[in-house]
Amino acid sequence: MADYDYDLFVIGAGSGGVRAARLAAMSGAKVAVAEESRVGGTCVIRGCVPKKFMVYASEYAQSFETARGFGWDIGDTRFDWPRFLRAKDDEIARLSGIYVRNLQNAGAELVHAKARVKDAHTVEVEGKGTVTAKKILIATGGRPWMPTDVPGIEHAISSNEAFHLAELPKSIVIAGGGYIALEFACIFNGLGVETTVVHRGPNVLRGFDDDIRSHVAEEMEARGIKIRLGAQINAIEKTADGLSSACVDGHMLASEVVMFALGRGPYTEGLGLAEAGVALTANGAVKVDDYSHTNIDSIWAVGDVTDRINLTPVAIREGAAFAQTEFYANPTTFDHDMVASAIFTQPQVGSVGLSEADARHKYGKVDIYLAKFRAMKETFYGGQQRCLMKLVVEQGSERILGCHVVAPDGPEIIQMAAIAMKMGVTKPQWDATCAVHPTLAEELVTMRDKYMPPSLGA
Ligand code: NDP
Repeated sequence: MADYDYDLFVIGAGSGGVRAARLAAMSGAKVAVAEESRVGGTCVIRGCVPKKFMVYASEYAQSFETARGFGWDIGDTRFDWPRFLRAKDDEIARLSGIYVRNLQNAGAELVHAKARVKDAHTVEVEGKGTVTAKKILIATGGRPWMPTDVPGIEHAISSNEAFHLAELPKSIVIAGGGYIALEFACIFNGLGVETTVVHRGPNVLRGFDDDIRSHVAEEMEARGIKIRLGAQINAIEKTADGLSSACVDGHMLASEVVMFALGRGPYTEGLGLAEAGVALTANGAVKVDDYSHTNIDSIWAVGDVTDRINLTPVAIREGAAFAQTEFYANPTTFDHDMVASAIFTQPQVGSVGLSEADARHKYGKVDIYLAKFRAMKETFYGGQQRCLMKLVVEQGSERILGCHVVAPDGPEIIQMAAIAMKMGVTKPQWDATCAVHPTLAEELVTMRDKYMPPSLGA
């Protein structure tokens, strides 16, 4: 140890970096964490957490409608965007402060500066010179990717800016059909913003189960969001009233704000990794093995910067596994199989395991169980929103390969399903579970009849 300034130097104080740093420091190791921005990373500062606050805020529009159906008289409602932003920023500051305190309480040193790898054991800290470390952990996360070949792209915002708009726009055009595009489309639509999604593909949410994709798109459209599929924005111009987006098919879309959500990329730029000999993938992600170890003996990487599954809880588990392996003599890997995910659209999506298409491709014959229904809360007041629940089951073994839920609290429901599926639950075991009544989730354990998809000749 005497040879190095630190046992561990972590670059990036987001979910993965903070977890690894805390655990390592708690083992007695001398740890430093460098962060160029605010402590907490994408999740806390400009991702999951502020996004969820915006989801909550936007859901009230629908709640007021529902409340009327349940006998409430509701006067004029008005949303105060600046008041919401202040409250949101206060809460983010509080949470970031907790991250800082947790690091300090664990004994880790926080360095507020950009750091770059100089060589296998040396880190250059901006404005503070170089330090040496026995081990280096890269946990710098990802960043929104913006195309460079769209004239006028400088007028468009990414999700980073969507959290800080000075005024709530009257209209927004959102490019992309993934998590971020759809979540923000639902947020803005809920807040009363005229919202249009422009997506190049034939359906949104590529990678998810096809029934889920179609259902989410239909429900979003039923709530007033315009979704233009097979379309792409190829130029943006400033106009007297705002912006004009030209689509490839010649269609022009006018809006006050244009947001691009075409994916995120690993943040490795300026980190000195290639120069230090760290192997990167074609899109710049750090190449790692199951132990998050790079090709350089003293350097590891966790979280979005490795572009495995880009979700906060995954980064946390990768960071924890790294710390267990390297600082507690307990070799640990994180199993990336059966990781559930949620999309906080309206309605929300919870999904774990394989889509029907992937299951058919991988396992051949599968049985499908599917329910599409209006929840009792909807039927009471005449609401038309529908839930969708779907199970994908391997024929023969009866193992449940996929569980997909589009429903209020779908993400809460899927967490429980994920436990059972991680344990390899079969359909008979699943069905032996008694329903909780009256709930939405009971539908999941009462689906008995196999569903024949129309494409298979039902
Ligand atoms: P996604 O990868 O989910 O979606 C990107 C979208 O942009 C896709 O619809 C894609 O289309 C489209 N696209 C990509 N390149 C182009 C292009 N050149 N021209 C036109 N369209 C393009 O990225 P997001 O930015 O939505 O989210 C990034 C990641 O962040 C997610 O993968 C997820 O891991 C994480 N995240 C998770 C959330 C959650 O857990 N709730 C919330 C938000 C983000 P196509 O499908 O055709 O490729």
